[in-house]
Amino acid sequence: DRIPLKRALISVSDKTGLVEFARALAARGVELLSTGGTARTLRQAGLTVVDVADVTGFPEMMDGRVKTLHPVVHGGLLALRDNQEHMAAAKTHDIDMIDLLVVNLYPFEETVAKGAAYDDCIENIDIGGPAMIRAAAKNHAFVTVVVDVEDYSAVLAELDRNDDRISYPFRQRQAQIAYARTAAYDAAVSTWMANAIGEETPRRRTFAGKLAQGLRYGENPHQAAAFYTDGSARPGVATARQWQGKELSYNNINDTDAAFELVAEFDPSEGPAVAIIKHANPCGVARGTSAVEAYKRAFDCDRTSAFGGIIALNTVLDGETAHAITEIFTEVVIAPDATDEAKEIFAAKKNLRLLTTGGLPDPAAPGLSFRQVAGGFLVQGRDNGRILRPDLKVVTKRQPSEDELNDLLFAWTVAKHVKSNAIVYARDLATVGIGAGQMSRVDSTRIGKRKSEDMAEVLGLSQALTIGSAVASDAFFPFADGIEALAEAGAKAVIQPGGSMRDAEVIETADRLGLAMVFTGQRHFRH
Ligand code: 5GP
Repeated sequence: DRIPLKRALISVSDKTGLVEFARALAARGVELLSTGGTARTLRQAGLTVVDVADVTGFPEMMDGRVKTLHPVVHGGLLALRDNQEHMAAAKTHDIDMIDLLVVNLYPFEETVAKGAAYDDCIENIDIGGPAMIRAAAKNHAFVTVVVDVEDYSAVLAELDRNDDRISYPFRQRQAQIAYARTAAYDAAVSTWMANAIGEETPRRRTFAGKLAQGLRYGENPHQAAAFYTDGSARPGVATARQWQGKELSYNNINDTDAAFELVAEFDPSEGPAVAIIKHANPCGVARGTSAVEAYKRAFDCDRTSAFGGIIALNTVLDGETAHAITEIFTEVVIAPDATDEAKEIFAAKKNLRLLTTGGLPDPAAPGLSFRQVAGGFLVQGRDNGRILRPDLKVVTKRQPSEDELNDLLFAWTVAKHVKSNAIVYARDLATVGIGAGQMSRVDSTRIGKRKSEDMAEVLGLSQALTIGSAVASDAFFPFADGIEALAEAGAKAVIQPGGSMRDAEVIETADRLGLAMVFTGQRHFRH
């Protein structure tokens, strides 16, 4: 089952490593067939190449839409070499066998990522390339297919190992990679079209990503992992530039995403905001008149948890903020941009990773999110729900004050990014206590309060900052006990979706305890 390579068809858009690879093949006596641009590159390098057009008897035409779509190509890829009828047909029609297919496709994903116009994207949908790849992969019993520049060296190593032949397991593995590529390619086309026509329903969609990076391990060291990108131009961890520090880990990527998506909720034209994340939950979020003030206020929510955290800014990272950040150990900092001074300060901290994104993602943008379950995955629209002042319904006798309203909306926005059950206490546009991921809502209220009391001790304050705070709850209070717990913590105002069977009782309790409460009519479960 080891097959020598006599004839190769090479047709590549990405010409990286092409000449070296083709030269190595030619040196092993492989005849080279190529399409227009590829053939030109090879000839310029002094290699002997046969034009596909000479083999098909047709010129490349219609802007390259039709180059290799011809029985003489597809017959050469698909014929079963051990089938007499196939071989007789090949002979009758003058079809020579192709043993190696090297194709990388029109850069459709890159064209979309550049923000190209519709027609330009359409023109970058490769037709002949995927057709050949699928044909060669189907016939891996006889044909070797290569779709990734990264695999050139593996092919040469395989030839060296096997007396200038390719083994069956190698061909099989390449076929598997080939189908992953064509599937991802078509998924990218379909996703782009869905976006172009504003198709938001998760039905009749397909999903695939492009391998961006193999990861050292997954959530835990015994789990293998990789990072795939979906080609979206959304500023964030997938498209960011890393300035320094070790490679991001699986958990880093997950937490950095959570941090940046959260901080992007806060419009930078209304001032800087900073979020500190641990295990995908915020342990401090704050606005400030400067980035450094926002950072310090976020840090003061829960200094203990912030150690080893991930920090996101909605604004440029400046020197002063960078300096404050380096006072404790931090894993990753992500921001739209960073000053030279900030970069210099970070350069002294070799393990700290700095990422810049060039912008902020639009929190209101549509999109899909996924969750895997055994046997499948759940798909839903991303949680782009946002609540503005006119959406709020005051349900208590007491109206919230102007300051309380600002804090309520701030806490609500943070709560959207906290695992359920989420309770967020805020004061003066900074979180002062966060209860996350509890099975009972009343437990989250107690945890937030207790964390705030712990911090008051660390900061040498006479009382916890939850006293006088505004509180957000990501979902309704099923019972009045949650409201009682908030009042015990000293909260003065509450924001929640409403909609519980016991809303009347919950409102009555708030009134009795002197709390102001508003309903949003929108829930933000996050699991
Ligand atoms: P070249 O740079 O050699 O002119 O073109 C190489 C590109 O053309 C490759 O990305 C390959 O997938 C693509 N290609 C090869 N045959 C065809 C075809 O018949 N139709 C289209 N649309 N693309 C093709």
